[in-house]
Amino acid sequence: MVKVIKIKPAREVKKRCVCENCGATLEYVPADIKSYSGTDISGGPDGCEWINCPNCKKRVTLRSW
Ligand SMILES: [Zn+2]
Repeated sequence: MVKVIKIKPAREVKKRCVCENCGATLEYVPADIKSYSGTDISGGPDGCEWINCPNCKKRVTLRSW
């Protein structure tokens, strides 16, 4: 059984990115990442991962495929 021993994320899992909309530097952990996956018109895999910028509330895309 998994036990939470510390609620604050360890430094190693934190990542940073810059919001392309407002320029804020954001720090996030894997749990903050939202993702979508589906198929595109031609039937190929389509999806993306993003986080929501708390400053401007816009979506910051981390990865898309
Ligand atoms: Zn922003």
